[in-house]
Amino acid sequence: MMSSVRGDEAGVGADMGVSEDNTVTDIVVVGAGAAGLFAAIAAATAVPGVRVVCLDGAKSVGAKILVSGGSRCNVTNTEVTDRDFQGGPSRVVRHVLRAFPASRTADWFRVAGVALHEEEGGKLFPDTHRSRTVLEALLGACKGAGIEIRTGHRVTEVHPSGAGFRIVTSAGEVDARTVLLATGGKSLPKSGSDGFGYALARALGHSLVPPTPALVPLVIVNSPFAAFSGVSHPAALTVRDGGDRHVVAGSLLWTHTGVSGPAALDASRHWHRAVEEGRRPDVLLSALPGLTFEGLEQLLIEAVRVHPRGTLRSELAGMLPSAVLEGLLRHAGADPVVPLSQLSREHRRAAIRGLLEVPLTVTDSRGYQHAEVTAGGVPLEEMVPATMESRRCPGLYLAGEILDVDGRLGGFNFQWAWSSGWVAGTAMARRLSESRV
Ligand SMILES: Cc1cc2nc3c(=O)[nH]c(=O)nc-3n(C[C@H](O)[C@H](O)[C@H](O)COP(=O)(O)OP(=O)(O)OC[C@H]3O[C@@H](n4cnc5c(N)ncnc54)[C@H](O)[C@@H]3O)c2cc1C
Repeated sequence: MMSSVRGDEAGVGADMGVSEDNTVTDIVVVGAGAAGLFAAIAAATAVPGVRVVCLDGAKSVGAKILVSGGSRCNVTNTEVTDRDFQGGPSRVVRHVLRAFPASRTADWFRVAGVALHEEEGGKLFPDTHRSRTVLEALLGACKGAGIEIRTGHRVTEVHPSGAGFRIVTSAGEVDARTVLLATGGKSLPKSGSDGFGYALARALGHSLVPPTPALVPLVIVNSPFAAFSGVSHPAALTVRDGGDRHVVAGSLLWTHTGVSGPAALDASRHWHRAVEEGRRPDVLLSALPGLTFEGLEQLLIEAVRVHPRGTLRSELAGMLPSAVLEGLLRHAGADPVVPLSQLSREHRRAAIRGLLEVPLTVTDSRGYQHAEVTAGGVPLEEMVPATMESRRCPGLYLAGEILDVDGRLGGFNFQWAWSSGWVAGTAMARRLSESRV
């Protein structure tokens, strides 16, 4: 089923006469997700009258926006810098974020009728707690700007042709002066983002940093900790792969297949990248992330003096859910109920390691079906940072998750979509307007 939603057509192609020839569209956006819709809006805002058509293979747009943030959509964060992202060079990410920072995202949504409020970690959510509000604001802005959205139009080929491009879709062909690829990555393929955009980019001269899932639960086969399933607590995970060491802290959720929750999701990209690059990553858990080995040892030594009959269980109660505390101690060979005064130095240290340096034998992740984003993608070095135009194919632009940028949990991935989409859309419209002067 395909459909076409045309916005207010009055003025489209008329104000500045960009689209004199109706058979050639000024801007075709391939992929009407967060980046594509925002780029379309930016283009129509920068140069009123520019004709923008969004093509999407899905039956309806915005599937990923709707499921995001537990259906509440974590739109952005109060503070977003290049340090919140991995992938291509941070100077390029910084350039793009500065062109359209998180404060402008919040302003744009407020003006569009979506008030945002701050939650833990600076995350900004709509006051309605409904991601649909965010999607409706974007679609409303598209409608107001006369942007046409054609669903059920899966793009299969993009060729340079004449003064622009010919775009072949599952429902016919379209000619365009400029094209934006905003087809996302490979995460949640049932939403329509299945990685085909990479093939489109490659056919137009781009290379590809091999994609891997990111922000995805980690799998531990035959986990000795399966009994903790459903329990969560603060934790730090360290991913070590030879030279590199990445430490992420946050809530950890034990599951029947391994670990999830913010700490595991943020750690997952480091695990996957190491495996992808042929290194063998170790994952170490600290279940008491505020404590160092020396600090915990001092605490236990002191406890013997203050509470001579105290045990590991009684002294550490409240620091961790009891099932996890006892399970980790027993796994390390430490008896939680032996009085601390009878604990040898060796056993005390084994207990500490059992809480602060727990090796997790991660064997895989739950894959793209469960990943929130894709790491890897089209290298940023192949883009002009000020415009998001391809250095390989003039007139072609890229934005969003298709690029080799992935953010940590907290609204950063949408911010990348908004920022890169805005930069691309604005530049595309200006290019067309300048070529007409
Ligand atoms: C479960 C989940 C929760 C998330 N929660 C958050 C959150 O709260 N905050 C946050 O910042 N990020 C979140 N993310 C990540 C965020 O959704 C993405 O980073 C963001 O949507 C990427 O935007 P995009 O426009 O680049 O790609 P996408 O949103 O993936 O959009 C790409 C579009 O292109 C279309 N398409 C693909 N190929 C073709 C083709 N060949 N022809 C035509 N159309 C095509 C697809 O149908 C899709 O509509 C979440 C992701 C998931 C999966």
